[in-house]
Amino acid sequence: MNIIDIIDKKRLKKELSKEEIDYVVTNFIDGNIKDYQMSSLLMAITINGMNFSETLHLTDAMLKSGDILDLSNVSGVVVDKHSTGGVGDKVTFILSPLLASLGIKVAKMSGRSLGYTGGTIDKLESIKGFNVSLSDDEFINQVNDISIAVSGATKNLAPADKKIYALRDVTGTVSSIPLIASSIMSKKLASNADIIVIDVKVGSGALIKTKKEAIKLARTLIDIGKHYNKDVYCLLTNMSQPLGLAIGNTLEVKEAIDALKGSGCKDLMEVVYAIASTVISKVKNISLTDAFKLAYENISNNKAYLKFLEFVNAQGGDINLEESKNILSIISDKDGYINNIDAYIVAKTCLLIGGLRENKEDEIDYSVGVVLNKKVGDYVKKGDVLARIYYNSFTPDVELFKSSFDIADEKINNEPTIYGLIGM
Ligand code: URA
Repeated sequence: MNIIDIIDKKRLKKELSKEEIDYVVTNFIDGNIKDYQMSSLLMAITINGMNFSETLHLTDAMLKSGDILDLSNVSGVVVDKHSTGGVGDKVTFILSPLLASLGIKVAKMSGRSLGYTGGTIDKLESIKGFNVSLSDDEFINQVNDISIAVSGATKNLAPADKKIYALRDVTGTVSSIPLIASSIMSKKLASNADIIVIDVKVGSGALIKTKKEAIKLARTLIDIGKHYNKDVYCLLTNMSQPLGLAIGNTLEVKEAIDALKGSGCKDLMEVVYAIASTVISKVKNISLTDAFKLAYENISNNKAYLKFLEFVNAQGGDINLEESKNILSIISDKDGYINNIDAYIVAKTCLLIGGLRENKEDEIDYSVGVVLNKKVGDYVKKGDVLARIYYNSFTPDVELFKSSFDIADEKINNEPTIYGLIGM
């Protein structure tokens, strides 16, 4: 077998065998297949696709490239939640303590930000002292003790995905459904939870731009899960405007705290409640309506917030969050309805003031970012504050940021936050 024949085969749109896929993954990890050869194959896959059995073989090869977390010492059903990456996505910080406050075990391995989407681990690190590197024993003990642990993947989980993803990120080969599905599922299967909920984001601020592609990705994720006897549920959610109000690490943690105290923004809470209801109904074997009631109750009675404090405390964090030195209000220069707030442009504004990282080695300024004062569908008057930009060393690009707002005389955007749930 050799890599050039395999690249040629995919260039000619032929199906790769399990042996060929195993050969590629093993030899890429070992350094026998070079980055330029792998990039060429990844581009052929991005252009010509992979069928389901190829996608499954790739998932399996990446899964088997590392360890599988042993959760056999955790009692009860274990839940993991993943997002395909969005702007202002702080759902994990609300959802995880909410589920844990109902006794549902949440064991989540998370990643850092890269490019325009934020990363859970960076957001957690914006909490001073928070330990994102739990050992296996610490992780499992904490899940057993307080029903929740979120850690960076310190273990050798799906290392092939790590190496392949780093290459995809710099070779224009991220937006491929079989590559995305195998990347997500190899990591999630290695994390080994019983129930996996995936928030598939769709829109300008997401990897997936159309609902059709999102449905295809969701079906692939669910079918891979079935093959491993895992329950996978996919929620398709709108990521054309940022989720909630805050974009930026510390600012998003603050917004999550407000949400846990009962003051969550409508679209953010819609996503939280939709995922929470799905999981609760499945774990407790009750209707979605009854599951929603339980979730709503534990936000209203502060139990979810108290669980969040317990979680932060268990991982050594200090909830007194740092603030940026400067705040700039962005004012509307006309009257009208907000028909869009382009999530991609908002994220780019945050990237330029240091709130996200362009390269893996970049340092993040945790306290900077944007807090929206208006959302899509709101009516604004000239002079109203549209948003506030929090910044330190880099002056924000106000013109760029303002270009994210589409304000018109007529209200035309009626897109829902949630497009649907697949897998129930
Ligand atoms: N998230 C992942 O983990 N992998 C992808 O390929 C895309 C999003």
